Amino acid sequence: MAISNPATVGSAAESSSTAPLIEVRGVRKIYQLGETEVHALRGVSVSIEAGDFVAIMGASGSGKSTFMNILGCLDKPTAGQYLLEGIDVSRLTKKELARIRNQKIGFVFQSFNLLGRTTALENTELRMLYSRESKKGRESRAREALALVGLADREDHFPSQLSGGQQQRVAIARALANRPSLLLADEPTGNLDSRTSVELMEIFQRLNTNGLTVVLVTHEPDIAQFAKREIVFRDGHIKRDDIVRSPQVASEVLKTLPKIED
Ligand code: ADP
Ligand code: MG
Repeated sequence: MAISNPATVGSAAESSSTAPLIEVRGVRKIYQLGETEVHALRGVSVSIEAGDFVAIMGASGSGKSTFMNILGCLDKPTAGQYLLEGIDVSRLTKKELARIRNQKIGFVFQSFNLLGRTTALENTELRMLYSRESKKGRESRAREALALVGLADREDHFPSQLSGGQQQRVAIARALANRPSLLLADEPTGNLDSRTSVELMEIFQRLNTNGLTVVLVTHEPDIAQFAKREIVFRDGHIKRDDIVRSPQVASEVLKTLPKIED
């Protein structure tokens, strides 16, 4: 049985006044693979306050992506509850989930998932295509988001004309264009060299300082040190949940790393 994390039990019990941004209670996820049941999450309870910056660590297969997909309303728990801003999302319909996803959540993945024949600006606009915003409004928000990730001068470039780090920055801009309150990143630096990874962490730290809640999966302990809190998964459980004592400051670390010409 999962033993609930002591740090989260208290906040779950006293959740009367202001609800945390994320409240996960006894979440289980079982995938049915033919005859076999795969227990990806075996009773996970955790709460995350708005403004936090959480790194999720753990071996391959420990349930990190499953957890992220649930946080991101891409998938529902088999059992347990997930409350996002106090709303029990496990009860919502597909359509309602899609709306929450669009309004509140930005995603970044290891593979940047950009459309190849589409410029940085158009890629950034993609997630807004279904919003009611005018073409002009979408463009100006996309430009704003590209500026936030330092790519204002690359908006007409195609992915093939951008480095890996720049492509990932476009993916971050796309995730930001809807002005989400929660940014979920599943191994965003998995395909990047170490300096480029720290450059991305500088962006995540800056966004977090400006109020965005960030939850980021990484298997690199160095990367987790840029977060405020580290949660370690093992076999579908939370094994550890700790404050990062003195997080690394990416902008400072960058000064110590040799620059790569692009
Ligand atoms: P991690 O991201 O930590 O590597 P995952 O959450 O992807 O772990 O996977 C947790 C477990 O669930 C693994 O055993 C994996 O094989 C299994 N799993 C993940 N997604 C599926 C799926 N769609 N169908 C069946 N099993 C899955
Ligand atoms: Mg994964």
